[in-house]
Amino acid sequence: MHRDDFPILTQHVHGKPLVYLDNAATTQKPTAVTDAIVEAYTTWNANIHRGTHHLSIVATEKHEQARALLASFIGAAEPEEIVFTRGTTESLNLLAFSFGEAFVSEGDEIVVSTLEHHSNIVPWQMLCERKKAVLKVIPLRDDLTLDIDALPGLLTQHTKIVSVALVSNVLGTVQPVQEIIRLAHERHIPVCVDGAQAAPHLPVSVRAMDCDFFVCSAHKMYGPTGIGLLYGKRSWLEQLPPYQGGGEMIEHVRWSGTTYNQLPYRFEAGTPDYVGSYAFGVAVRYMQTIGVETLSQHESELIAYAEQQLQQVEGVVVYAAGQKKAGALSFNVYDTSGKLVHPFDIGTLLDRQGIAVRTGHHCAEPLIDHLGVPGTVRLSIALYNSTEDIDAFILALRRATQMLA
Ligand code: PMP
Repeated sequence: MHRDDFPILTQHVHGKPLVYLDNAATTQKPTAVTDAIVEAYTTWNANIHRGTHHLSIVATEKHEQARALLASFIGAAEPEEIVFTRGTTESLNLLAFSFGEAFVSEGDEIVVSTLEHHSNIVPWQMLCERKKAVLKVIPLRDDLTLDIDALPGLLTQHTKIVSVALVSNVLGTVQPVQEIIRLAHERHIPVCVDGAQAAPHLPVSVRAMDCDFFVCSAHKMYGPTGIGLLYGKRSWLEQLPPYQGGGEMIEHVRWSGTTYNQLPYRFEAGTPDYVGSYAFGVAVRYMQTIGVETLSQHESELIAYAEQQLQQVEGVVVYAAGQKKAGALSFNVYDTSGKLVHPFDIGTLLDRQGIAVRTGHHCAEPLIDHLGVPGTVRLSIALYNSTEDIDAFILALRRATQMLA
């Protein structure tokens, strides 16, 4: 689908046509996005906000239009609920810090799940250390689904926030976030949804979901690196103190003290990445032109096809087989004596055949520990991947396993 929009995909790697299946790490960029970056720097670049001159006014408009576009893309009520950050990781650090300053004190509890990415674990751990709070973890069942039945027992009068991924970056599985939000809201506990692996693959509406916070990264959504967003309901964002100090986030600075700017600027200290925000907007417009439902359908058929093909390769174990996935799956290979083939060896042999996948812990060590393996091989797709890519991958995997036998 729309492969011609991605010139990088036409190259050969190690003499073989590139088959890029590492999209959960980052997606490739369509020419619409790379052209937009060049256009920004060659026609309207100027620092934004407070500018009285033409270019600055244009740049400010582009940045704010992108904010409005992203608000509508994720179904936010208003653009002021979108804070631009460097990406999901910075969004979660911002939230953990500011929310922690406002609401968390000694003995309080924060709930995450076993399958979170490190960036949805470590900022909360750091907060817990700072405030002497406790991090609690939703366990996994044997089939690698979240044990949602354990959640009510984890939510107490001390629980301040729940933060969970909508789509696992390792397993690709879609999590029962709606149910988590319902259980948390019944107890007046806010929920943050890590949408880094969901926003590229599924239609998202923060209002329909009724999450309190939502985070994602442009670079996983056909946009540039170095930009992402934190969505927060206005009622929550208004209660949070600033994260970083500097220009733009202030109202007035006096030696007697500083007052802070309104939303969302209060959380955007310094010159923002206005070229990045513009290109992020172009990227989501690109997704909208294709249709998020359309690309989602295409990807879900493709991932099901990949899973079905993989299960016919001897020695392959697909994790969370048969469960609904968005964009990714993980597997391992066992040799004829039942010994795990190190995922890195599989990855290297695939690379030699032009196939790009990712191997290792995927920044989710607690989940990998739970699986009891040193890592997995992760295949992850985007709208431009095809059944031919999967067939080439399967052929290369068969060759790799034969070589290792
Ligand atoms: N959460 C999830 C679920 C992710 O997949 C990732 C990226 N691998 C992140 C958070 C962190 O995103 P970034 O590196 O763009 O900040």
